[in-house]
Amino acid sequence: MTTLEDRLASVRASIADAARDAERNPAEITTIVVTKFQPASLVAELAGLGVRDFGENRHQEAQAKAAALADLDLTWHFVGQLQSKKARQVRAYASVIHSVDRPSLVEALRSDEASVDTLVQVNLTPDPARGGVQPDEVEQLVEQMLGTPGLRLRGLMAVAPLGEPARPAFARVRLLSERVRVMAPDATWLSMGMTEDFREAILEGATHLRIGTAITGNRPDAG
Ligand SMILES: *Cc1c(COP(=O)(O)O)cnc(C)c1O
Repeated sequence: MTTLEDRLASVRASIADAARDAERNPAEITTIVVTKFQPASLVAELAGLGVRDFGENRHQEAQAKAAALADLDLTWHFVGQLQSKKARQVRAYASVIHSVDRPSLVEALRSDEASVDTLVQVNLTPDPARGGVQPDEVEQLVEQMLGTPGLRLRGLMAVAPLGEPARPAFARVRLLSERVRVMAPDATWLSMGMTEDFREAILEGATHLRIGTAITGNRPDAG
């Protein structure tokens, strides 16, 4: 049995290795620990080990954990598919929404309040159920986001497709991000890389890794 602390240290070492191989500074890579299906007590334990950034993919669960742990001053990242009618509630606790993928959701995030950081989720498969906008629709969505108050576009997010090598898929996201930065120079974030493929993501320029089970261990539920 390894402990949470062992697994966190081992993932941090692998991130540092990959960053070295990519000739990148590991300090410019943010590790978000994805704690979906995990209890708030595990999040608190990770916070005690120095983790600040946490990812969740379901609104009710995320809202409950953010409320229970409000005194820890953590940064919450919403990484799941988001219903437009939940958008306002999510921006109340999330610092970053990684999964903006359609015009109606951009409209639902419109606000006169302080801006929430957002990423466009790119779908690297033809399957709409996987979430994300198709690559050829990204620029149009970016244009809409740049004209919408209440959100700040920070970059792109993607999940590697199943059953094909991750690295060329991440390379496509990197190229797409160069096109987006012509329109939005501040959109420099690349949220990609999970337990199975964070090394490949780092080699392709990921700035934000979303890592769950490699750190938390298996999820209590089928997640
Ligand atoms: C669950 C999840 C992760 C983390 O997955 P692991 O394979 O456990 O590292 C990352 N990103 C998203 C969008 C997720 O839903």
